[in-house]
Amino acid sequence: MLNELANAIDTESSNVAGGRGMLIVVSSPSGGGKGTLIDRVLRTVPGVSYSISYTTRAPRGTEQDGHEYFFVLTAAFEEMIRRGEFLEWASVYGYLYGTSLAQVERELKAGHDIILEIDVQGAASIRKKIDDAVSIFILPPSFELLRQRLVARGTDSPADLERRLRGAPAEVEQHRNFQYVILNDDINRASQQLAAVIYAERARRERQSARLTETLADFGQFSGKL
Ligand code: 5GP
Repeated sequence: MLNELANAIDTESSNVAGGRGMLIVVSSPSGGGKGTLIDRVLRTVPGVSYSISYTTRAPRGTEQDGHEYFFVLTAAFEEMIRRGEFLEWASVYGYLYGTSLAQVERELKAGHDIILEIDVQGAASIRKKIDDAVSIFILPPSFELLRQRLVARGTDSPADLERRLRGAPAEVEQHRNFQYVILNDDINRASQQLAAVIYAERARRERQSARLTETLADFGQFSGKL
């Protein structure tokens, strides 16, 4: 399955980008505001889709199965691990989370770029498996603001809240392993910056080889003849 994915990533030609679909990994501590940023980018940047993860945690607030996540029992998640159905998975704050290989494959084949909103362990697995994945870390402006956001969300149990806050400093430390860091102090600026990273990555020469072949061949036929 992973070989097929690598092939899809290597050979598929794409859409709006004119190259092939790319994997965009976005990580931040829980409550870092990446959900809002990503929602904006999905609404404003054409050709980007979102990987809906599987998780064993219970739905929070207004979350719906198949929308934010596919909510599954631990036994079902473990069965999916056994069947090799995850591109990556990790245990985060006491629950299991995983990215569906089939979903990612489908989107890349359709020529879409796909955003994986995953934790820093998941980001590390993707970096190991997929050389040209784009990695972006969303940095909340301060620990206190992160705490306030998590408390205001009011959807985590006190134990969950504590686990998330306790994990934040180590997660933030991991920003060094990402190609891009976006400081989320202003939602407008931060979402524009996220969109800008996607547009800039699409313009990379290596990502456009399929699209450029025809144009370069066109110029090539006049080489030395004028
Ligand atoms: P939350 O429970 O707040 O929605 O997510 C908790 C953490 O799990 C966040 O850091 C989120 O990015 C991460 N996460 C969500 N889906 C996945 C996934 O498929 N794989 C991994 N590794 N982490 C995920």
